[in-house]
Amino acid sequence: MAPGKRTEIVDNPLVPWLAVSALIVQKFGGSSVADPDRIRAVAEHIVRTRREGNDVVVVVSAMGKTTDDLVRLAHDVSQAPSARELDMLLTAGERISIALLCMAIIDLGEPAVSFTGSQAGILTDTQHGKAKIIDVKADRLREAVAGGAVAVVAGFQGVSTSHNITTLGRGGSDTTAVALAAALDAEVCEIYTDVAGVYTADPRLVPDARRLSRISYEEMLEMAATGGKVLALRSVEFARNHGVAVHVRSSFTWEPGTWVQEEDASMEQAIISGVTHDTSESKVTIERVPDRPGVAALLFRALADEAVNVDMIVQNVSHEGSTDISFTVPNDELGRAMAVMEKVSAEIKAGDVRSDGGVGRVSLVGAGMKTNPGVAARMFEVLAGENVNIEMISTSSIRLSCVVQAADVEKAVRALHTAFDLGVD
Ligand code: ADP
Ligand code: ASP
Ligand code: MG
Repeated sequence: MAPGKRTEIVDNPLVPWLAVSALIVQKFGGSSVADPDRIRAVAEHIVRTRREGNDVVVVVSAMGKTTDDLVRLAHDVSQAPSARELDMLLTAGERISIALLCMAIIDLGEPAVSFTGSQAGILTDTQHGKAKIIDVKADRLREAVAGGAVAVVAGFQGVSTSHNITTLGRGGSDTTAVALAAALDAEVCEIYTDVAGVYTADPRLVPDARRLSRISYEEMLEMAATGGKVLALRSVEFARNHGVAVHVRSSFTWEPGTWVQEEDASMEQAIISGVTHDTSESKVTIERVPDRPGVAALLFRALADEAVNVDMIVQNVSHEGSTDISFTVPNDELGRAMAVMEKVSAEIKAGDVRSDGGVGRVSLVGAGMKTNPGVAARMFEVLAGENVNIEMISTSSIRLSCVVQAADVEKAVRALHTAFDLGVD
């Protein structure tokens, strides 16, 4: 019997019992396993899935806010925690969850075996804090499943090519789940969380946000990249690159959620699928940058060498041989970005380097934007109507983003959601 294939009753009256089981990856986020009752509820769901005849590989996050607590603890002990040791500390959160969840599954009468990321064969590069998965050697998981057990894997972690424990970046358990689903050729990767799927906006901010029944990889990528943190960006990239069907759903109501999949003709061709927001970025401006070839390359090379992730970039019109350049970076990389920009600015004889930590970004995402003119105009009108000043603009073929003051983000999201008629009727 081939493992990892869909449950199918083979249409042969002589062998009516011959069923081939599906392999399903189920991932449970922090709020889904926040306390003992939640862990037992999740265990019951896993056991139910198993008893329906499926093979199950589970990925689990640290309980509740454990990761935040551990980050705080590290900073209470050390001003600049060593990246290697921080990863060692943070992976402890997921280690607690896998053991407890296995205990709960075993109590319900099904065998379960826990695995750290390293034991599960998740091999990463050496970038502590944001390691990339470079290979998954899932033999131990296959063996456990073939032996009839539920395999429970610690999310968000792996082991590097230099044998150190790494983490995949915040929210990285999603990436673990999708990577395992791809490696194990799973039927589906189910991401269980505290909302019932992917919504037209963060339902915490916009109460009448509507759940989407389906969304394309491309749109989900843009949403994840612009603050729709229901799925980690890397997990969506991985799913798209490997064709993994992802089903985002609730571990509280267990109702069907949102399918993230290849765009197909039957998909609802909405002009706008959602509004996202992000207040985790800062803006850096370098004044009076000499306007000659090679200068921008120099600035951004220096940032890249310091592993600063630059997002939006705006260069102003040049006046008298110099121009201002602004860009956004994640808040926690602002210190590094400022240090390197001050150094380079002095070298190239540019002016002051300024930062603004109080910015945010609102974005509209939708595949229908490609063929419908006027979306940008409407977006800017809506923001103007709310008296929100636009500081930077960036676009892709299916996204429009504006940097605005962080204090304006909430009203901007709500106004755009209403203006584009995204709410429940
Ligand atoms: P988990 O701990 O399960 O990984 P996360 O907190 O990472 O959960 O992701 C779920 C949260 O994502 C929701 O509680 C919701 O507030 C937020 N979110 C942001 N944008 C969206 C959106 N467009 N649709 C659904 N949830 C969203
Ligand atoms: N526990 C990690 C975090 O809080 C990973 C995850 O939840 O996906 O970021
Ligand atoms: Mg998450």
